[in-house]
Amino acid sequence: MKLIFLGPPGAGKGTLAAKAVDILNVPHISTGNIFRAAIAAASPLGLKVKSILDSGALVDDDTTIGLVRERLAETDTQKGYILDGFPRTIPQAEALSEFSQVDKVVNFDIPDTAVVERLGGRRTCRKCGANFHIHFGKPKKENVCDHCEGELYTRDDDKEEAIKKRLEVYREQTAPLIDHYRKKDLLVDIDATPKVDEVVENFKKSMG
Ligand code: AMP
Repeated sequence: MKLIFLGPPGAGKGTLAAKAVDILNVPHISTGNIFRAAIAAASPLGLKVKSILDSGALVDDDTTIGLVRERLAETDTQKGYILDGFPRTIPQAEALSEFSQVDKVVNFDIPDTAVVERLGGRRTCRKCGANFHIHFGKPKKENVCDHCEGELYTRDDDKEEAIKKRLEVYREQTAPLIDHYRKKDLLVDIDATPKVDEVVENFKKSMG
């Protein structure tokens, strides 16, 4: 099954994807995670994109499309994948359709108020990238990752100004993809407001 997870930042795409990989047995490909790993490694790509990510803007289409094209050429994606955070623009969607055919696009529906609450309280592990929340999904030990004991921190792009910018960017550049994929009859809407277990159940039903 080849899936795109589409939705605003903070909709829970990454959280559901982490659960869905076990259900579907396909790799989870998050362009955001790829960029953050490059920044952590201080690679040339990381140095190029760090200030863009910190501000909440989008990395240019050519760079992002190139990365995904290479990743989807790897053999583990042959029977499927979950693309989380890609495509985010119409040119990215058009490019993707030239090198891979997706089966469904899962559209995470959530109001902006819920996004702000989720992202503002999100804490991320510096070591493994796992996400926690100061109210929903607290770690067992404050500021320590349950999985690898890494330190938890607030991503620069989860700070207030950047959240505002990311939502603006989403509305302007990414939301048009909803209609784009609806017209192609690929869209499956999912209510992303309930707690994660309920969203997982709804996801399973919508995937049949
Ligand atoms: P995410 O973790 O998906 O919210 O992505 C974090 C950041 O990575 C975004 O705010 C963008 O700066 C960058 N990014 C991730 N995916 C893309 C994409 N498909 N196109 C452009 N920039 C992206």
